[in-house]
Amino acid sequence: MRGSLKLFTWFGIPVHLHWSFGLIFLYALWVGYANNLDALGTMWLMGFFMALFGCVLLHEYGHALTARRYGVQTQDIILTPIGGIARLERMPEKPVQEFLVAIAGPMVNVVLAIALFFLGKLIFQGERWELFNWILEQNLLFTGEEESVDVFEESGIPSSGLLFYMPVLVVTNIALVVFNLIPAFPMDGGRIFRALLAMRMGRVRATQVASWLGQAIAILFVVVGLWQGAFTLALIGLFVFTTARSENAMVRMDSLLRRFRARDLMRPTFTRLVLNDWMQTPISLLRQGLERHFLVFDMEDRLVGTLEESAIIAALRKNDLSTEISQYAKPNVKVVHEDENLDYVYHLLQQQGNSILAVVEDGNLAGVIDQVGLQNFLRLHAEDR
Ligand SMILES: [Zn+2]
Repeated sequence: MRGSLKLFTWFGIPVHLHWSFGLIFLYALWVGYANNLDALGTMWLMGFFMALFGCVLLHEYGHALTARRYGVQTQDIILTPIGGIARLERMPEKPVQEFLVAIAGPMVNVVLAIALFFLGKLIFQGERWELFNWILEQNLLFTGEEESVDVFEESGIPSSGLLFYMPVLVVTNIALVVFNLIPAFPMDGGRIFRALLAMRMGRVRATQVASWLGQAIAILFVVVGLWQGAFTLALIGLFVFTTARSENAMVRMDSLLRRFRARDLMRPTFTRLVLNDWMQTPISLLRQGLERHFLVFDMEDRLVGTLEESAIIAALRKNDLSTEISQYAKPNVKVVHEDENLDYVYHLLQQQGNSILAVVEDGNLAGVIDQVGLQNFLRLHAEDR
């Protein structure tokens, strides 16, 4: 992914750090400065942020590894200052599976909170263990920090270090569970909500309802975030709002595409270009404006490549009329069967960036599908979506 740094690969999944993650270090420095922390204190604070993002990373692995059980691979995991994103190839469509993949992340934080609590019990005894519990309670109840500093001064234990940050990390994991379970689609809680709805009303309708609720909560996040000066919350709200909309559009389009097959979009009449023809031919065809992408054949009439609009325009700019088409053609043509579902055709055109596909019927070339045809189709069916 652009603007990110690859950290390592674990369980076969690359972990990337988004550039804006550097802001966390600046933030830690600033907090350290504002609270008069010494170098060691600031180091502890940074260590705490690292541990926090370690927990976020494990949360994402919870999603990724559960998805893998259902045959869904994860492209990568990206860590950003507002959280982690496991980029799954797709969401499993069986509601039960989506439910389990979504809930696996927060479950990791439940386990971490419990594990850290008992680890603390193992490390700290007596008065220190009492202090551990006291800090835990104070953080759970959101009570004032000044008070806690006094208690630290009285007990003579520094207000940084493991005894201070471990209970804070326990509480942070609990907060991660609670926050992620808010039913703001596409956050985890929203995915769980969609999965539960989808068991009753079908995926398209369920996504629509979940997306509405997600957008409503997202607006609340933005308003409260700006009101309270919690800009992270406002940013998350913005992110939730836009992804809720786009995921809804995607699911609707998916269901539209699945109702059609390649033959519904195929154009049976098309110009066959030959490798050693001059570029003059496609240039004048493009000028007529009826066809923009072409299939290219060799002298034995075998399909060998494609010629895309962008290549023709490049030739036109250089006034390259008498160069052979072979110089501008792209080898390898994707061939689809006429019974192929349109969602696969969409994938080949939009995600893989092929401009034109060949459609076969009983082993014979029956027509083409190109970007232009697809855009037309989507526009015509805009209301069905
Ligand atoms: Zn999650």
